[in-house]
Amino acid sequence: MTTHKEPLSSVLNTIGETPLVAVHTDLSTVDVYAKLESFNPGASVKDRIGKYMLERMLDRGDIDPGGTVIEPTAGNTGIGFAIAAQQLGLEAICVVPERFSREKQQLMRALGAEVVNTPTEAEMSGAVERAHELAAEIDNSVVPQQFSNPLNTEAHYTTTGPEIYEALDGEVGAVVAGCGTAGTLIGIGRYAREQNPDTHVCAVEPEGSVYARFFGEETDHEEYKTEGIGTSDPTTNELFEPELVDDVLQVSDRTAQAELKRLAREEGHLVASSSGAASVAARRVAERINGGQLSVPHSTVVTVFPDSSDRYLSKGIYEEFEAWEG
Ligand code: PMP
Repeated sequence: MTTHKEPLSSVLNTIGETPLVAVHTDLSTVDVYAKLESFNPGASVKDRIGKYMLERMLDRGDIDPGGTVIEPTAGNTGIGFAIAAQQLGLEAICVVPERFSREKQQLMRALGAEVVNTPTEAEMSGAVERAHELAAEIDNSVVPQQFSNPLNTEAHYTTTGPEIYEALDGEVGAVVAGCGTAGTLIGIGRYAREQNPDTHVCAVEPEGSVYARFFGEETDHEEYKTEGIGTSDPTTNELFEPELVDDVLQVSDRTAQAELKRLAREEGHLVASSSGAASVAARRVAERINGGQLSVPHSTVVTVFPDSSDRYLSKGIYEEFEAWEG
């Protein structure tokens, strides 16, 4: 794995090349690894798309220098876009549903972005709508649209995927990742299937999310506390490609929280609930491989821990389950 040993000219050059670390090391016959995306400068996986998408959009002339990027976001994407916008000479406006963590909104403002809140009840689709209204009012502005822009998936296809394969000398049996926009999973999954078409690709969502409807399951949408993954309306998740996904695993908030606490206590990872969910799902896949129910090209499962727990402390992420605010 490459590490940043040379002096770097910009914070943008510190994005990516995150560590891949063994987790669930008690499983003797299957190796499980997590890619620690909190090592990015904005401390989440979304720094990758902030940099990649804005650089490409400037190259293509979708936006001119000095313009404004307006993005509906649960928070981490706002931070990623705020860093990249600032460094590339652009303004950033982040449209964030109220329920998402205060810390993330403070960090976006600290980076110079403007934060516009939308009502929690309007879900992400309310934020998307507001972003488009703002774009209609502001000259030289663009909505990158992480939920539908193929550049999101491409960022992971060209960086996260190859980094994983390089670190493991190509020996990957299964890829397991939480799906918000699905950019992470589909980008890594497409790369993985090109390396070996038998690689198992598994999506993770909270119980109450309805990604499983892509596979004809009649699941009902219910509120959940886990931030960053899941969907209430799969028609808005245009990047999800069911033909690249073998399975959708659901993890309850309660199970994800118990796991993020275990990861801190036993494995030293200060990660949030989407990482807890990914970790539980990765273990389920590993146990299926271990038990001979799932056949994969290599006995190695890779997952992604998208961010860290410190930006959820005010929500009581380490408190009792009932005290944890979604
Ligand atoms: N976890 C967290 C905490 C996130 O913010 C996101 C992004 N929404 C994800 C997981 C999922 O990433 P993606 O949008 O690439 O599916």
